[in-house]
Amino acid sequence: TSATSKHSFQAEVAQLLHLVTHSLYSNKEIFLRELVSNASDACDKLRFEAINNDGLYEDQPELKVFVSFDEKARTLTIRDTGIGMSRQEAIDHLGTIAKSGTREFMSRLTGDQKADAQLIGQFGVGFYSGFIVADKITVESRRAGLPADQGVRWTSTGAGDFDVEDIERAERGTSVILHLREDASEYLNGWKLKSVIGKYSDHISLPILMEKEEWKDGENDQPGGMVKTGEWEPINKASALWTRPKKDITEEQYIEFYKAIGHDFEAPLAWSHNRVEGSTEYTQLLYVPAKAPMDLWNRERSGGVKLYVKRVFIMDDAEALLPSYLRFVKGVIDSADLPLNVSRELLQESRDVKAIREGSTKRVLSMLEDLARQQKEGETDEAKAKYGKFYAEFGAVLKEGLGEDFANRDRIAKLLRFASSTSDVADVSLADYKARMKEGQEAIYYITADTLAAAKSSPQLEIFRKKGIEVLLMADRVDEWALSHLHEFDGTPLQSVAKGAVDLGKLQDEEEKKAAEEAAETFKPLLEKLKEALKDKAADVRVTTRLVDSPACLVVQDGGMSTQLARMLKQAGQ
Ligand code: ADP
Ligand code: MG
Repeated sequence: TSATSKHSFQAEVAQLLHLVTHSLYSNKEIFLRELVSNASDACDKLRFEAINNDGLYEDQPELKVFVSFDEKARTLTIRDTGIGMSRQEAIDHLGTIAKSGTREFMSRLTGDQKADAQLIGQFGVGFYSGFIVADKITVESRRAGLPADQGVRWTSTGAGDFDVEDIERAERGTSVILHLREDASEYLNGWKLKSVIGKYSDHISLPILMEKEEWKDGENDQPGGMVKTGEWEPINKASALWTRPKKDITEEQYIEFYKAIGHDFEAPLAWSHNRVEGSTEYTQLLYVPAKAPMDLWNRERSGGVKLYVKRVFIMDDAEALLPSYLRFVKGVIDSADLPLNVSRELLQESRDVKAIREGSTKRVLSMLEDLARQQKEGETDEAKAKYGKFYAEFGAVLKEGLGEDFANRDRIAKLLRFASSTSDVADVSLADYKARMKEGQEAIYYITADTLAAAKSSPQLEIFRKKGIEVLLMADRVDEWALSHLHEFDGTPLQSVAKGAVDLGKLQDEEEKKAAEEAAETFKPLLEKLKEALKDKAADVRVTTRLVDSPACLVVQDGGMSTQLARMLKQAGQ
């Protein structure tokens, strides 16, 4: 009894499939990375589930991935001995996109192939990337633990729907059979497959096997060729990259590993690989990406660090391993101490995790400090450009750290960069600012606004400009909040120029002060009238020395909420 049924792809999948086949064309070999990594994930899942249910291994304890091709049939098959899928799982997992943010992702696509390819790469097209090279995909699978007659065959040409039928399948796990398009014949070649898999999957910790081939001379005027020997040989090192000694890992291997786990086409800006010993033992391999993912601002977004325990994959996006202001970091942490059956809840409470989190935070901050150093001392233009790139993408996230990580606040403050009334580029550090302070200047002045242009043209800056005092300009949404946690830098207080009566301290001219006091006296009746007229709108009306060209400006009372923050809260419906 083989019940066949037809199903439609979720609308987003159909749309994605169209895009995948059209915009990833110039990058088509990534399908191998995606399918091999799915095979490897499936083996990881089996190993994980088997911790509590040994029976899942059945009589096949080996976890492996087999890659084979058939020139005559024009098929390429990726088979694994992993967890497999039940009929329902095949329908659910290969017909929908479970990831959150799919709709938002779709709405961001521009139609520009290059930009879209970058986005799609980040999103991780996964299984559907098979359709870049195949005009039909057949998946045969059986879930570990189910009887042989509960296998499933899933077939689709990638055009709107797919068929599912029951099959008999003795071996556990999954075979993905790609029926290659005419223009993808290059993947019917052992050498080509080995080179692509080597590049993308060398770090995979399971053996990836291919059938050995030998050269055979032609007979009876037939040309010679490679023939398969029936013997399978591993084509990767099958040891997780982070477990190898640093000296055995090339720069290219580090980069490829990042691209694989980070779903990124671009190389990272920096990485740090360490084995930490002591009361808590773990290995960390952490990367700083060059580009922000599109959902960086999604507060529900989890981090990018994968947790392993003694080389067994435990979970993706383990947010307990790094504070949220470092959520842009990607990588792997492999603990020697945590129990294999650790849950997300347990992670939050674990002392080992706390130590890992502190250690990893310090690592990331050192990496960033190093990039910042290279900005000044780097040997190449590329090295010099890195911190600026990092800051443009992630600076605003890093600032959240001021309010989130008190222990490292000073280190974070040093990493911040701002535009200022004398610099249009956001490259002024607080230390630079301090070094340029005027004699007698007692505070670091800053102004927040919706945009840099608005900050720059604010009447509140007039007096500062007149006196030649630099003011930092801030227009990131988080600035107001973040800066409220930084009262001083290196002994110098920070002061918003939009608050209260600006006290210019020693920079204030005695004469100016006097003139203002006199004016206040002269205009007292007028001020009273204005105060009366504005009584629901303004708490006070006063004469000021801070304006040079403008007739009036709004300021916030000392200790009051800034206009910027008030506007933000209003937008948020508070
Ligand atoms: P992702 O790997 O990011 O979850 P994919 O599109 O690559 O997304 O795969 C979708 C889902 O299909 C996987 O999450 C998994 O549940 C299932 N799947 C794909 N390939 C396999 C496989 N070889 N074995 C078992 N399940 C698989
Ligand atoms: Mg995948």
